[in-house]
Amino acid sequence: MRYISTRGEAPALGFEDVLLTGLATDGGLYVPESLPHFSLEEIRSWRGLSYSELAFNVMHPFVDDAIPADDFRKMLDETYAVFSHQAVAPLVQLDSNEWVMELFRGPTLAFKDFALQLLGRLLDYVLEKRKQHVVIMGATSGDTGSAAIEGCRRCEHVDIFILHPHERVSEVQRRQMTTVKGDNIHNIAVRGNFDDCQRMVKESFGNQGFLGGKTQLAAVNSINWARIMAQIVYYFQASLALGGPDRSMAFSVPTGNFGDIFAGYLAKKMGLPISQLVIATNRNDILHRFMSGNQYEQHQLEHTLSPSMDIMVSSNFERLLFDLHGRDGQAVKTLLENAAKGPVSIEDYRWKHARKLFDSDAVDDKGTCDTIREIQEQNEYLLDPHTAIGVRAARNCRRDSSVPMITLGTAHPAKFPDAIAESGVSVRPQLPAHMADLFEREERYTVLDNNIAGVQEFITKHWKNA
Ligand SMILES: *Cc1c(COP(=O)(O)O)cnc(C)c1O
Repeated sequence: MRYISTRGEAPALGFEDVLLTGLATDGGLYVPESLPHFSLEEIRSWRGLSYSELAFNVMHPFVDDAIPADDFRKMLDETYAVFSHQAVAPLVQLDSNEWVMELFRGPTLAFKDFALQLLGRLLDYVLEKRKQHVVIMGATSGDTGSAAIEGCRRCEHVDIFILHPHERVSEVQRRQMTTVKGDNIHNIAVRGNFDDCQRMVKESFGNQGFLGGKTQLAAVNSINWARIMAQIVYYFQASLALGGPDRSMAFSVPTGNFGDIFAGYLAKKMGLPISQLVIATNRNDILHRFMSGNQYEQHQLEHTLSPSMDIMVSSNFERLLFDLHGRDGQAVKTLLENAAKGPVSIEDYRWKHARKLFDSDAVDDKGTCDTIREIQEQNEYLLDPHTAIGVRAARNCRRDSSVPMITLGTAHPAKFPDAIAESGVSVRPQLPAHMADLFEREERYTVLDNNIAGVQEFITKHWKNA
């Protein structure tokens, strides 16, 4: 399988290089040159498979011959064995034909574990083979950081630097990152917001000279194709569990960086019958504004009760724009250069096409709290604030009640106790046993100014082989 850049200029790469590269040299994101397509018959034959067997079938075409099939199977078995539920991604029923898929049964309690537990193993496998070392640089609005650290902490060939916005992640999220021991793990709290962190990471990928040519940067953000790839699997899993592919499904996806929902869009293109995909945002609603009015315009970042979605610039949206523009990299490049300067729109027929693919909704903090309370009262089931946004958007946008509506449950409520308290429910979410002593563990992190030179200097001083 070959991968090409959404901006049309960078060289095409194979899976191994895409895994290690992150951002393409032209500033674009890598996407597969062509997608595998599965027939209904083939998908039907996957009923009853374990999660890791299903993951192999869905992902193998993307990995191709970069990793021998037996090695890849073993890696997937190990990856999904660390999840705390036998079904890996269990479904919980809220109402008739309405479900939450719990994607938070991994070690750090958010859906990011599905991809990052695998990514750590993939990286170590490929780096061992190449006798190579990389520096991971990543920005996190909270959950990516801990999942990346947990996924990569045993990697011998990796130093990992995670930037998070200082005092803008929940205490549980921060502690999940800063209490992990390992001399290859470095947490940087930036005096800025998530977009500042993301911008510094992007700029560093664009110009890696500060590393002195001695190593290269690898990405753990969803600009890394391997993350998207791993997230396609659970759409198939949910569908198969509820009678797919012989009936179609609707999904509602809490979204910030457009990664998870983009994976759903790909699942559909790969042959899975999906009749509705709902983009669920919080008040940082650039995607919802685009879908409703064909205006792609950055607004001031707002801090909400769903911090993992407090994102102004939605990186992976570029991957969709590439498809909407008939895979014309030049058109995407021009559009995004203009978008950096002010509001942009796309041609009306392209936008109408986007509206056929997605519905959207934006849910504010009040709507989030109301939904947490409502579901707790009706179902005695506690939603985290991100999942609550998904459930609310699912109900607001639903088109056909005979189609199962599945909201992706992106995080465990115990990650966001303050939001739960604010919603007014009296139950307190409990951390699972393996994290019960989180508040006693020693933390390690460095606070730095919102200044790229200082961050890069910190990295060059601290990576292992420096
Ligand atoms: C990362 C995250 C999201 C947003 O996912 P994207 O792939 O960035 O759209 C939503 N909810 C939670 C809990 C997250 O950690």
